[in-house]
Amino acid sequence: MPCQSNDELQLIVDEARTCTKHGRVADYIPALGEAKQDDLSIAVHYPDGTCYSAGDIEKKFTLQSISKVISLAFVLMERGKEYVFNRVGMEPTGDPFNSIAKLETMAPAKPLNPMINAGALVVTHMIKGGNVEERFSSLLAFIRELAGDPNVNYSQEVADSEFQTAHLNRALCYFLKQHNIVEENVEELMELYTKQCAIEMNCLDLARIGVVFAMDGVDPISEKQIIPKDIARICKTFMVTCGMYNASGEFAIKIGIPAKSGVSGGIMGAVPGKFGIGIFGPALDEKGNSIAGIKLLELLSKNYSLSMF
Ligand code: GLN
Repeated sequence: MPCQSNDELQLIVDEARTCTKHGRVADYIPALGEAKQDDLSIAVHYPDGTCYSAGDIEKKFTLQSISKVISLAFVLMERGKEYVFNRVGMEPTGDPFNSIAKLETMAPAKPLNPMINAGALVVTHMIKGGNVEERFSSLLAFIRELAGDPNVNYSQEVADSEFQTAHLNRALCYFLKQHNIVEENVEELMELYTKQCAIEMNCLDLARIGVVFAMDGVDPISEKQIIPKDIARICKTFMVTCGMYNASGEFAIKIGIPAKSGVSGGIMGAVPGKFGIGIFGPALDEKGNSIAGIKLLELLSKNYSLSMF
């Protein structure tokens, strides 16, 4: 069923778009700096396959930190809860996503949660397989299944751009390696992580993944349980407590939707039992979240009473 453009959504997008001038496109990964400041689009995907959209929904963007919630689901399925949570915690940090500060204060130096870079690197480290290529292919196959789109792929340009400049992430990996939380070669882990972050898709695909989380791990189109219910529940809980980095508390109060953002300007939302949301708006606020994307979700949540609290 094609996604229908929707006038009500378009009005909300037009209103939210006025915020983009107060944000900034991320450029610490040089290839992301090419994005257009005032882009804003949304797709809303219902379990019955109905889809509504506004903006240029065909435009592709990389998942960046949105991939963290998906790799977490994948690794929990591969390794089980005990193995994973022995190596990464469950608590929000209140620090920026790439902060190294708390690692030094923890004993053992286990990252506080899987949504910050340190925790996500540990999660990616846990993906099974003989080499980087095999591990990346298995994660990509999972993401293609979730999106119901066998053509989802990654951007070599964005992956290379991040790989060449990821000094802080390398520092996190070396710290974790020193404390035996990460065991593999850091360059290999960086290759896998930067490819994972560079997986690209449009808002439609992202909304389709959102609806699987919203429906407790069941793909409503194929009716297949892709993610076990308890793992989907864990992922949604992390989306609420840590999904918008150190803005998660305010986001929960103002919007109340499990969501995960990335520095490309993407946001995936999963309204429990109702629908999935995919947003792309590359102008970011100072915490690294899509500034107009948050405004858009705030308007949607208010207009349609979507808060789960
Ligand atoms: N690839 C990015 C990084 O590690 C992801 C960060 C993000 O989206 N917040 O810096």
